[in-house]
Amino acid sequence: MSARGTRLAAYLDQRRRMGEPGIVPDGLAPGELLGLLAARADAERKAEAAKEAGAGARAAARAATRSRAGSKSKPVPREPGTADYEELRETALACTRCRLAEGRRTVVFSDGNPAGRLMVVGEAPGAHEDATGRPFVGQAGKLLDLMLASVALSRQDSVYICNVLKCRPPGNRNPMPDEIESCAPLLKRQIELVAPEVLLAVGSFAAQWLTGSTKAVGKLRGEVYSYQGVPLVVTYHPAALLRNPGWSRLVWEDLQLLCQIMDNK
Ligand code: SF4
Repeated sequence: MSARGTRLAAYLDQRRRMGEPGIVPDGLAPGELLGLLAARADAERKAEAAKEAGAGARAAARAATRSRAGSKSKPVPREPGTADYEELRETALACTRCRLAEGRRTVVFSDGNPAGRLMVVGEAPGAHEDATGRPFVGQAGKLLDLMLASVALSRQDSVYICNVLKCRPPGNRNPMPDEIESCAPLLKRQIELVAPEVLLAVGSFAAQWLTGSTKAVGKLRGEVYSYQGVPLVVTYHPAALLRNPGWSRLVWEDLQLLCQIMDNK
């Protein structure tokens, strides 16, 4: 068995011992995993969309109340470029550098292990992330966890996860260029401090910021880039994969490329 296969088997054994065998069903070939979750998630996504519509109206009312009451945000503790990890986190939690501070419920700084080998960079928080303060929860988060599990990685021990933007754009619209520019010092310092062995950009905004290219993910994926000397792989965002299950094979190939790099580290 390959080194990767051995790690996957060990991971599955560990989950079974913990009484959590369900993330990767026994006997399922790794290449089939992504499509499996996509099908299951589709129905749940529709139900959550209806729930989110009601939550959006309540969030708008809260934002209006906050606006009338004036900003109560704490001042930014210090410049990101000189902060240590905890200072950087506090800086982000107090940040009002862009308009997204007005409508957010929480600042979504990170999840996973800051000492992890792999750093996943996504786009921006959605409704679930804004509510919980954790990146990649909800259906896209479950699919990301499955993608990672299929190559024997997990946010509990080997992966650190964050987004280009730390605050939710209203209505899950795309990030605006000035918002990305305002938030970039936080991400830049975050990568410096976490110092991952490998970066995985999921989705176009992370891929374009990290590669410096304006090409679409479909044109960027399949190659290894370098961000400040750190190998970088690009793939589709799990939310896009849920909408396009036919991309599962491409994502699987991207994860294999990621594994090749990590196996050689
Ligand atoms: S998105 Fe980034 S720059 Fe804008 S308020 Fe949030 S943390 Fe600050």
